[in-house]
Amino acid sequence: MVNGRYVFVIGGGPAGLAAAIAARHRGFQVVVADGNKPPIDKPCGEGLLPDSIAALQQLGVEISPAEGYALQGIKFLEKEKSATACFPAGRGVGLRRPILHKKMLDQAVALGVQFRWETPVTGIQENGVNLAGGDFIQANWIIGADGAQSRVRRWAGLDSSAKKESRLASRAHFVVAPWSEYVEIHWAAKGQAYVTPVSANEVCVVMVSRNENRDIRVALQEFPQLASRLSGERLSRPARGTITTMHRLKHVCRGNVALIGDASGSVDAITGEGLSLSFHQAVALAEAMEKNCLDLYQKAHRQLARRPTFMARLLLMLDGRTRLRRRTLTVFRNNPEVFARLISIHVGETSPVHFAATSALLGWRFLAA
Ligand SMILES: Cc1cc2nc3c(=O)[nH]c(=O)nc-3n(C[C@H](O)[C@H](O)[C@H](O)COP(=O)(O)OP(=O)(O)OC[C@H]3O[C@@H](n4cnc5c(N)ncnc54)[C@H](O)[C@@H]3O)c2cc1C
Repeated sequence: MVNGRYVFVIGGGPAGLAAAIAARHRGFQVVVADGNKPPIDKPCGEGLLPDSIAALQQLGVEISPAEGYALQGIKFLEKEKSATACFPAGRGVGLRRPILHKKMLDQAVALGVQFRWETPVTGIQENGVNLAGGDFIQANWIIGADGAQSRVRRWAGLDSSAKKESRLASRAHFVVAPWSEYVEIHWAAKGQAYVTPVSANEVCVVMVSRNENRDIRVALQEFPQLASRLSGERLSRPARGTITTMHRLKHVCRGNVALIGDASGSVDAITGEGLSLSFHQAVALAEAMEKNCLDLYQKAHRQLARRPTFMARLLLMLDGRTRLRRRTLTVFRNNPEVFARLISIHVGETSPVHFAATSALLGWRFLAA
């Protein structure tokens, strides 16, 4: 088995930074390389659920609502129907991605992590990594935090996955004062639009659809309530397209290589869970390296993915099924406690009793609706 204190992290996005911070907390020497340079932006819904805020706190990164926009809960909307649920405890925060990146980077630098920016990694070997330009850096542990299209995954032979389902997404920011303290998920026949307020005068809108990636203003027409709020408003920066994927790997580590964040599999964007997952993975990975046993990380990774995967499957079941979705919204609207229980599972309430009781209640209300 591997032993040693030198860690090399490939990718300096949120997952790579979280991995670097958690490893430094355990006394490892850490170098991070990224082909890009900070602060790194990326199409994202920019919603940090209360669980993400708590996980960041564990890493020593404090997020104040004043840096973004405080979020009270989640609201589902379709035509005239809507249902609202508050987070059971704490608040979420809508936060621009470059701000999150800078805050995490500041913490990593303060802890003594070393960085190689604008330096793509071109290959890995058993005892280190090759950098563009020809440098080779020795490492005992290699962490692949290089995102959804991970090359480290391929290099390490970890690419054999279960199913992979992708949807198309585009993100835009509108200059407008938020009209709600909730993350709004607007449903329509061909997809969803979700809105996260990110400051006192800006909202982030993500449109997700299975088969179309249209101009954001055209796609907005499918969501009449949202279109009426945003049609006259200016974009604060150009819209950007991307892909969101449900992707589970059979294994996330091999030898001295471990994958984290989107490189290690992902849940659909609609859950707003990707960041939180990677922060929790980072803590588990550092502990496993400390104990010199990546099997512990493999187990923790599987366990951490369970709840977000369940939520993603539940939400995606509603995608494209208009009757089921409208009936669900009616159940949620008429039984706010059921919706609130579901949201509490979504944000991290994982006790099996709560889980079972909520499923039973949901099923019962469905039969009665
Ligand atoms: C449309 C959309 C909306 C989302 N909304 C939310 C949300 O509201 N809340 C939430 O929590 N999550 C959300 N997510 C998920 C979240 O954005 C991701 O889970 C998160 O970005 C994963 O971070 P990461 O660090 O794993 O990957 P990335 O952010 O992709 O970072 C990977 C880094 O690796 C670098 N890299 C790649 N290859 C190399 C190489 N060979 N050498 C060096 N560097 C390399 C890249 O430059 C990049 O900086 C959303 C995702 C999508 C697609």
